[in-house]
Amino acid sequence: MHEHKSFFIGGDWVAPAGTGVIEVVSPHTEEVIGRVPDGTEADIDRAVAAARAAFDDGPWPRLTPAERAEAVGRLSALYAANVQPMADLVTAEMGSPALFSVFAQAAIPQMVLQYYVDLAATYPWEEERPGLQGPVTVVREPVGVVGAIVPWNVPQFTLMLKLAPALIAGCTIVAKPSPETPLDAYLLAEWVKEAGIPDGVVNIVPGGREAGAHLVAHPDVDKVAFTGSTAAGRQIAAVCGQQLKRVTLELGGKSAAVILDDADLATTVEGFKLASLMNNGQACAAQTRILAPRSRYAEVADALATMVAGMAVGDPTDYGTEIGPLVARRQQERVESYIRIGQDEGAKILVGGLNRPYDRGWYVAPTVFGDVTNDMRIAREEIFGPVLSLIAYDDEEDAIRIANDSEYGLGGSVWTADEERGVAVARRIRTGSCGVNLYSIDPATPFGGYKSSGLGRELGPEGLDAYLEHKAIPRPAPQP
Ligand code: NAD
Repeated sequence: MHEHKSFFIGGDWVAPAGTGVIEVVSPHTEEVIGRVPDGTEADIDRAVAAARAAFDDGPWPRLTPAERAEAVGRLSALYAANVQPMADLVTAEMGSPALFSVFAQAAIPQMVLQYYVDLAATYPWEEERPGLQGPVTVVREPVGVVGAIVPWNVPQFTLMLKLAPALIAGCTIVAKPSPETPLDAYLLAEWVKEAGIPDGVVNIVPGGREAGAHLVAHPDVDKVAFTGSTAAGRQIAAVCGQQLKRVTLELGGKSAAVILDDADLATTVEGFKLASLMNNGQACAAQTRILAPRSRYAEVADALATMVAGMAVGDPTDYGTEIGPLVARRQQERVESYIRIGQDEGAKILVGGLNRPYDRGWYVAPTVFGDVTNDMRIAREEIFGPVLSLIAYDDEEDAIRIANDSEYGLGGSVWTADEERGVAVARRIRTGSCGVNLYSIDPATPFGGYKSSGLGRELGPEGLDAYLEHKAIPRPAPQP
């Protein structure tokens, strides 16, 4: 049992202002595995005050980038030595399959941290430019206190996309983890303390929607970085718009995988295990619309159904498991309701459906719908579970049109024997990323969404830009 009775505020473990408790329940056993205090507005106020003081009066924003990189490098080293316990904890909280968890819930977050440590040495923190009347120094300064709000599906990854660049930039942070996954942030807080990051630079208060909304609206927060649903993102954008607060939003998706007519089907459907079904289908960038050429539709339907039927569904702590349970009963019921919607809309279940694979645990059978048209709700709305929609297209133009016919624009992929052709198609898909014969998110390259999938970019140098203000210091030309 993981029991925590305090929050990480101002470099210390601080008792909560309220009495509410968040229970963390295993999606596999349905048993309580942890308890943490439920953050209230008063707790958020204390955390923001600590972050504000650390920014206004503390050493952190005034250190050189190299000095900050040294401290964050110590955090990165501690993280690297503890990837396994972090992965195990996230799997226990939300059911991510062990093999995926080691990689995506722990190793990649650590790589993101190390990426920004290394970037500090080469990033153009300051430059001289010739101006109209004389030399201009352009400096990049930290934006201030950051409110970071993250979801439960990839809790460490989404947090690190904010924490790592914010720290290197010289910002201070209040992070609010999701109530489903508060435990992993406590482990991280221990390492932050051990690494000697100054007090108040990182503050962590898990809580629900109200705590998040309070953090967003707090007048002492200079920037909000949010990952979560598009509905919440719209509300947050409205508040930040009113206050002209800086904001980065990483929201939902309904990404398309386009199978071109020359694709090798065996490798393509194998690629969907990750691109479409990673993390039990609970991934914002999951490619849940599979676009197949009408000429090869039956062949694709067969290969896809066979692959999905063969996936190992079960205990997420087992390294052979490919699909674990969904995060909560609520999520299980939501995904099942979409399976019903698909049936009512006239789509045909090729594999999976409403029979639960286990009585205990929040499992849903991985499901593929055939005969889907792009106007059906199962093709338009984010389901956030292991449910794929197979859609036929006529020719390449039609495939691009269908891929782009979405409110969202986050990820995507193109599968083909001809890489050049794949890249040409990928260029025409209006999403923040679109892979060819794979889908991956790389620490060094920007990640984010077009359209309703978000605002701004995380990762890469672009992800650091988002935590900096640019200031120009012009001066008269030297007299001859
Ligand atoms: P959610 O929007 O309900 O909650 C996300 C976080 O925001 C939680 O910590 C929650 O407590 C908080 N929150 C909710 N409403 C808020 C508000 N009005 N103001 C402030 N905070 C608020 O989303 P979820 O169900 O936890 O996560 C799933 C969603 O996250 C999916 O839509 C998924 O696509 C999205 N997601 C996006 C990315 C990305 O990078 N684009 C990555 C992972 C998940």
